[in-house]
Amino acid sequence: MDSTVKKSGAEAVAPDGWEHLAPGVARRRMPGWDETVGVVAGDHGVLVVDAGATPADGAALYREITGLFGRRPTHVVLTHPHFDHVMGAAGFTGCEVYAAVGMDGVLSRGRDELRGDAERHGVPAATAAEAAELLVTPHHLVSGELTVDLGGGRRVVIANVGPGHTGHDLAVLVPGPVPVVFCGDLVEESGEPQAGPDAVPARWPAAMDRLLALGGEEARYVPGHGAVVDAAFVRAQRDELAGPSGGPREGGGPAGEAAPPAAGPGVS
Ligand SMILES: [Zn+2]
Repeated sequence: MDSTVKKSGAEAVAPDGWEHLAPGVARRRMPGWDETVGVVAGDHGVLVVDAGATPADGAALYREITGLFGRRPTHVVLTHPHFDHVMGAAGFTGCEVYAAVGMDGVLSRGRDELRGDAERHGVPAATAAEAAELLVTPHHLVSGELTVDLGGGRRVVIANVGPGHTGHDLAVLVPGPVPVVFCGDLVEESGEPQAGPDAVPARWPAAMDRLLALGGEEARYVPGHGAVVDAAFVRAQRDELAGPSGGPREGGGPAGEAAPPAAGPGVS
């Protein structure tokens, strides 16, 4: 990545780890695998983007978010089926869970692979086994775009923009004076985009085109790993992936950590 590409202005990160991106919109970078967890709060509902890496992480996030916004989370969007984004979903009791169409099958068939990926990336074996056991099957499968009304005029658009990083990539658009787009791992800032065995590299650039169409030039783009970026950064990463020497980095490990090849879902 060209270091001269402008990123979206540095955000103040509060002592509690939350970075406020717009009124009622925040995210934090989780310790360990640096995965983003996003939150969008309306008058009646609180939507969470990705759930952390373990049920305990998810339960802690549930409490933190309830404290932060004074309301319990009601919706969870899983951007893609990698352990560091989905295995915390069991901690979000009572929430409606959204994922890309087909991800229910990936999660049910890939339970063992997810457990193995989590272990390879440092989750204790017993925790990984429990997380696999408690894996949440999504309640709502999204193809195309789905608008969720959180009350008080706050609507979010859940968009099936993949495949790319995986076969099942969702993004979340929060419209507003400055739109915010949660990109999942289709965009990474803290390292090169990671391609595991479940990536679809040939279709990744088109997925990033859909992200850019969703948010437009003025949006703030929140990567799955790393700092918030702007449209120019996303476009540059898209061009690198599409270029003759491009293509995502193979390995699939989070935060620059290469993972051994595996037959199931990759990681990042
Ligand atoms: Zn990933």
